[in-house]
Amino acid sequence: MARTRVRFAPSPTGPLHMGGVRTALYNYLFAKQRGGDFIIRIEDTDSHRFVPGAEEYIIEALRWCGIIPDEGVDMSTGKVVETPSEKHPHAPYRQSQRRAIYREYAERLVRDGWAYYAFDTPEELDARRKEAEASKQTFIYNHITRTELRNSLTLPPQETARLLEETTGWTVRFKMPQDRVVAMDDLIRGHIEVNTDTLDDKVLWKRADELPTYHLANIVDDHLMEITEVIRGEEWLPSLPLHYLLYEAFGWTGSMPRFAHLSLLLKPDGKGKLSKRDGDRLGFPVFPLKWVNADGEVSRGYREDGYFPEAFVNMLAFLGWNPGDDRELFSLPELVEAFSLERVIRSGARFNAEKAKWYNKEYLRMKPASELAGMLEPVLAGEGISLPRDYVEKAVETVRDRATFVQDLYTAAPYLYQAPSEYIQKDVDKFWKEENVEMAGDVAAFIGEGNVSSQAIEDYIRSREWPMGKVMNTIRLALAGSASGLGIAEILSVIGPAEAARRFTAAREALG
Ligand code: GLU
Repeated sequence: MARTRVRFAPSPTGPLHMGGVRTALYNYLFAKQRGGDFIIRIEDTDSHRFVPGAEEYIIEALRWCGIIPDEGVDMSTGKVVETPSEKHPHAPYRQSQRRAIYREYAERLVRDGWAYYAFDTPEELDARRKEAEASKQTFIYNHITRTELRNSLTLPPQETARLLEETTGWTVRFKMPQDRVVAMDDLIRGHIEVNTDTLDDKVLWKRADELPTYHLANIVDDHLMEITEVIRGEEWLPSLPLHYLLYEAFGWTGSMPRFAHLSLLLKPDGKGKLSKRDGDRLGFPVFPLKWVNADGEVSRGYREDGYFPEAFVNMLAFLGWNPGDDRELFSLPELVEAFSLERVIRSGARFNAEKAKWYNKEYLRMKPASELAGMLEPVLAGEGISLPRDYVEKAVETVRDRATFVQDLYTAAPYLYQAPSEYIQKDVDKFWKEENVEMAGDVAAFIGEGNVSSQAIEDYIRSREWPMGKVMNTIRLALAGSASGLGIAEILSVIGPAEAARRFTAAREALG
């Protein structure tokens, strides 16, 4: 059996959508499970759609997720490999730098009768399109229309030779066979048959920029790079018949990869594809990392929103796949072990923003307090707070059940890290009354002596027959600035009795 080799082949036309990350992830999981190679190839032959920074973004996003390629990108520099080496034998991995390779393959198809030269100008084709539209039809370049257009099938050979020599607007088009049934197999969708009469003569190569189109470059590179499985988004399913025929045309059917087309990610309501704009509209990120476009518009990213990469990856793996039992938490190595294309669902996977948060909360719960404290320190520093590490760890332990993101470890209970600088007015109005303050002051003094367990505090209040709720809320108001929040004993376990007594005195000074 050939060594498993799969590739993720993004076009650098913008930031990678989370659906693209999922495609990369499934490729990675498939390869790693089989001890094979995961290759990155940059498909940048459409220069009109090139977006500066997109390639770097894609590599950075994959790195953040832990989806590390074996070939195509040198992860020590984060750069796409341009010169061949033992580890990267097929370099360059950027198609725009492989242009010398493709022309020869395009010519070979013409020679063998699978393709032809087309000389129609964009204006001529536009006119045909308009004409067709006027009679409510759509123009396609196919076995019927090609006989009336200017190409090497209709023009005399000398005229073809002259145009090839003297003009630069021509293209090589695939000569789609007439009335043939292409029978295909997809690892997710099963057997598919398409009649070629429904398909058009796609452009494969363009003289103008001496570059191939996606279809030609993709097939040639998958062949040269010895790709064994193509796992990609279902938007490419309509191209599959053409790809099958290209393998046939080149005589490569014996080593043709197997194909698996992944269903789309759907909007939370299940109605339609999750689009790049949905994130901002519905209030969740659709990109792994933050992206700022050329107009300065910012799209939020999971990383910047505070998601752990492990949670993001775990959530993403489950958008379209499940292990068949009810386990939901899988690390990347566990996913490698459990993943299978057979269990990838055929229907679209509905995105659920609440579930994404749930994953993050679960990962936050599992992380050691020392690690969380390290992540929280920059957040605290931003608030001008600097505390010993073991203090922060204790605070983290106390508040973590109320947190989804690292920043919540601070915002859910800022009073664990600093004395309140203000007090919620409605709680002040309700609890900060003379009789309450009197009793609470007495209890605060008792706490100050080192009595911090809830048992001791409650016994003390009960033995005096004081109203428990009122007294507790008044104390909490002094310690936390608000009558709601963590339990008094929990707060005390972090700030300690001496600080508690200080805060009560400070509240008395501030509130009277
Ligand atoms: N460049 C294509 C894309 O960005 C790759 C499709 C494929 O994997 O064949 O979607």
